Amino acid sequence: MLNTQELQQSDSTHYLHPFTDAKSLKKKGARVITRAEGIYLWDSDGNRLLDGMAGLWCVNVGYGRKVLAQTAMRQLEELPYYNTFFQTTHPPAVALSEKLAELSPPGFNRVFLVNSGSEANDTVLRMIRRYWALMDQPQRRVVISRINAYHGSTVASASMGGQSFIHKIDGLPIPEIEHIEEPYWYANGGDLTPEEYGLKTARALEEKILELGENRVAAFIGEPIQGAGGVIVPPENYWPEIQRICKKYRILLVADEVICGFGRLGEWFGSTYYHLDPDLMPIAKGLSSGYLPIGGVLVHDRVGDVLQEKGGEFSHGFTYSGHPASCSVALENLKIVEDEKLVEKVKHETGPHLKERWQEFNSHPLVAEVRNAGLLGAIELSPDKSSRAPFPEPGKTGYLCRDICFKNGLVMRSVKDTMIISPPLIISKEQIDEMFELAWKCLDQTSEAL
Ligand SMILES: *Cc1c(COP(=O)(O)O)cnc(C)c1O
Repeated sequence: MLNTQELQQSDSTHYLHPFTDAKSLKKKGARVITRAEGIYLWDSDGNRLLDGMAGLWCVNVGYGRKVLAQTAMRQLEELPYYNTFFQTTHPPAVALSEKLAELSPPGFNRVFLVNSGSEANDTVLRMIRRYWALMDQPQRRVVISRINAYHGSTVASASMGGQSFIHKIDGLPIPEIEHIEEPYWYANGGDLTPEEYGLKTARALEEKILELGENRVAAFIGEPIQGAGGVIVPPENYWPEIQRICKKYRILLVADEVICGFGRLGEWFGSTYYHLDPDLMPIAKGLSSGYLPIGGVLVHDRVGDVLQEKGGEFSHGFTYSGHPASCSVALENLKIVEDEKLVEKVKHETGPHLKERWQEFNSHPLVAEVRNAGLLGAIELSPDKSSRAPFPEPGKTGYLCRDICFKNGLVMRSVKDTMIISPPLIISKEQIDEMFELAWKCLDQTSEAL
């Protein structure tokens, strides 16, 4: 095998990375990960890292699951590929769809399968508009989302997302997508209490609906907890108010479950965690724990019945929609989640333990706020704890801390100056302690380096 330097050299010459500054990568060389087991990664120099991010929020059952590899192999031998276009199907797509209907909240009996979260949200946009066309209200086309939301990286999903640095590269968003304020009390709440701010940001939806004209609005989309935006846990009263407004104006509610789905919050879905009644739920990531690419849109009967009974072709799909190997692996992955009671474990055991440990960061001089829900965690770094003041150069301290974490064998991601974690759902209480101690040491080293 090539050594680290040779790999880095070839990598920066030939591989253009996603979400990466190619110029600075060329200077530094990429970090090369070569193998993984459980919650740990190893790099090409043999260093072990505790993966506090479960890959990219996805490897929920942990690395090294032989049964998932064997499942893929068996399926690839039997039927490696066939499509599900034009009135065709195959057993793995049928089995996974039925299983998803069983695991989803009542009323979710159908799924449209795709290969990623971005494709799921592209599908959401088309499905919403097709639904309203079939309901004889084709003028309902506008989707309302939130600033700093993340819904993927295709043109449609990035448009629904609300990150300005993504929009900037190509003049996004596309027309008929609107953004309202996110419920990010720490950064934007000012002197309001979290409750006042929760109500204010939810009411922004109603204001936007009235501004646009009620009969033009098709849907509201939101992640139950914003992930890539910085693990933003909304004030308690936010979602009930959003739900009320969606019902009042009869607009569809889309809960983007790509991160929250399949146990991350100690419930099967983020919608269950917040007692939401959504119409569509895009899923991906934890669906296959990242072993193979797969995503989908879970469709409530309120929408699914209309799509099916009104008839006509839904002219949309992907060559690999419902890929047999991905479906088989997803099904087996869900079986692991059930058999090992990972959702219950997060709810009753590891979620509460993580929260207890993470709250200890409140006493660290660099930390102004700590947030937790299930196996998600965020630490807000600030030069002044009491005022929640930002650093003069936002993002710099976060990067510094992230690099210090890597050096110390911990993958903890930074979003501006927020340090975030989303470890595999198999993490044990002892491993949470290990992660906490590593993180504490890294925060200390960050303080010293400032
Ligand atoms: C990751 C993510 C997506 C996009 O999923 P991809 O598989 O990367 O296309 C969409 N929504 C949310 C909430 C995500 O976290």
